[in-house]
Formats: sequence, structure tokens, C-alpha cells
Amino acid sequence: MYQLVIAAGAAPLLSFDELLAAEANPSSAGWSRPDLVWLQGAGCSGCSTSFLNVEQITILDFLTYFTRLLYHPNLSSTTGEQVPQILNKLAASNKAYILIMEGAIPVAMPHACMMADLPIGDWVGRLASKASICIAAGTCAASGGVSKMAGTLTGAAALDDFLRQRGIKTPLVNLPACPMHPEHLVYTLLHFIKSKSLPDLDDARRPRQFFTHSVHERCPRYPAFQARDFAQRIGEEGCLLDLGCQGPVTYNDCVAIGYCGNTNNCVRAGHPCIGCAGELFPRPRLYHTHDDPKIKTGIIVKKS
Ligand code: SF4
Ligand code: SF4
Repeated sequence: MYQLVIAAGAAPLLSFDELLAAEANPSSAGWSRPDLVWLQGAGCSGCSTSFLNVEQITILDFLTYFTRLLYHPNLSSTTGEQVPQILNKLAASNKAYILIMEGAIPVAMPHACMMADLPIGDWVGRLASKASICIAAGTCAASGGVSKMAGTLTGAAALDDFLRQRGIKTPLVNLPACPMHPEHLVYTLLHFIKSKSLPDLDDARRPRQFFTHSVHERCPRYPAFQARDFAQRIGEEGCLLDLGCQGPVTYNDCVAIGYCGNTNNCVRAGHPCIGCAGELFPRPRLYHTHDDPKIKTGIIVKKS
């Protein structure tokens, strides 16, 4: 089973089962359940769908036993005038809460994403400034992703850029991938709930234990890469580099943990990595390899 790791300082390494056992008596364990507010900007709701697929605990148990879900656009029964009432009340209070942002923020076209008659950016600014932590769920929130592709008129901004433009210094965690991996979010939330601190983050504010290794390093097709056995068509055996695989320049543990309970992952299924967790995603030509400067400059050596 995939191990959920508590990485802060000398904290022990715990499996998810151990975490659940430790949580059996929350009051004696001294944990508190934080309120969660989930907002959606310019995106596709795919990260919300991915979140529902977390395998180590039922989503219902996670949202009711470990946290309190105050608002989610798709999961909450709250609608209409109740939404701004709840969120305004929260923003005016001194309650601790966690803000999860899915999707980019359309700063050049604020009315492209509205919630309760206000641009989503207004809500993000209001709620992020008082949150305990902010989490950018998925590549659109972490770096712009599909919402920020060349040619967009919305001025879609990543959460990090948006917060910096407004001088909001709330601690931020980026969880890129398209869609975000549900275990990355559950891990981050449990880490914060248990330790009141963020997991160890890299320069891009991603948890190191998930984003230190490239897809390439752990790829089941790596022996074929070493043997210079390159597939030339989808469906062939061999390394997928010549089909545009971005595994060598994309950092994510998706190959190790898979999606949907490790049912599968991109390269195992025979599809080149399209770099969904990278800052350059999506490239204008998803399957084009040879013009990629990172690959050309020798991060990997292509076959002659
Ligand atoms: S280039 Fe892609 S398919 Fe080939 S070994 Fe690396 S990650 Fe795997
Ligand atoms: S293999 Fe690449 S495209 Fe697929 S999930 Fe991992 S980082 Fe994203």
C-alpha cells in the first residue's frame, strides 16, 4: 500500500492505516478539525472529481471526520444566498480555515468567473488573506495550466501570482497535475491538521516527497530507454520519448502511485507523459519532442 509520509523534522513515517488508527480518538489525540473552503475559478472541476477518488479513506469519512467542509461548489448542498452569507461570515470571523483553490483566476476578465454576483478573484482575495493556509489544487491553480494557454483573453493567473500581486502572505502549497492527485491533497491536509505545519516544500512550493523525482526516473519503460528501444507509434513497446514523452522533465510521483487506486498511469498505459504537472503544461504541441529546449540541452540524451 502507498505510504502516507509525515515528513516534518524527525516525525515518524506513518502509513495511512496508522494515521487512521491514531485518529480513532480525535479528542485524546489532540487534533482539531479545520473548516475547508473550496473555490473554483477557470478550470474544469476535474480536480474536484479526482479528489473524490481518494482510495485510502472514503471521501465522506475524510470530509466529516478529519475536516469540516464549509463550502464546495459541487459537493455542498448550500446554494443561492446562503453561499455569500456563509463566506462573508467566515471572512469576518476569527475562525481558522483552509482555502483550497481549483482553477486559475481570470484577472484580465474578472467577470469570466462569478460566484454570488462577485468575480471569483474578489472572493479569493477576501478569503485567502485570512486563511491559515492556501492550497492550489491542480495545475490551473498552481501555474495557470490549460486556462492560461497562449491566446487566452482572460489573463488567467495562478494562485501564487494572484496572492503576490495583492500582497497576501498566507502560506501556500502548490499541488500541480492535471488533475491533481487526490492523495497529494489528503496528505497535505492531514499533515497540517496533525502538525500545524506545512510539509517540506521545494522552491515551487510543492511537497518534496511527491515532486522530487521525475516521471522518467521511475518509469516502467526506463529499461527500454536505456536500451535505446524507442516506440514510433502509440501502442508499441518501448520508451515513448520519440512520441513526445515529457517524463524526463516532469516531476511527479504519479508513476509510483498511479491514479484511481494505482489502477494505471499514463506511461504504463502506453501514452507519453504530456507533462501535466509541469509549469510549461500544456505545450502548444503536446506530442512534439525535438524543439523542447530542456531535452535538447542534455537533460537526457536522445538516440542518434
Ligand atoms: S522518456 Fe518517457 S516513456 Fe521513456 S523512460 Fe522516460 S518517462 Fe518512460
Ligand atoms: S505521467 Fe505525466 S502527464 Fe501523466 S499524470 Fe504523470 S506527470 Fe501527468
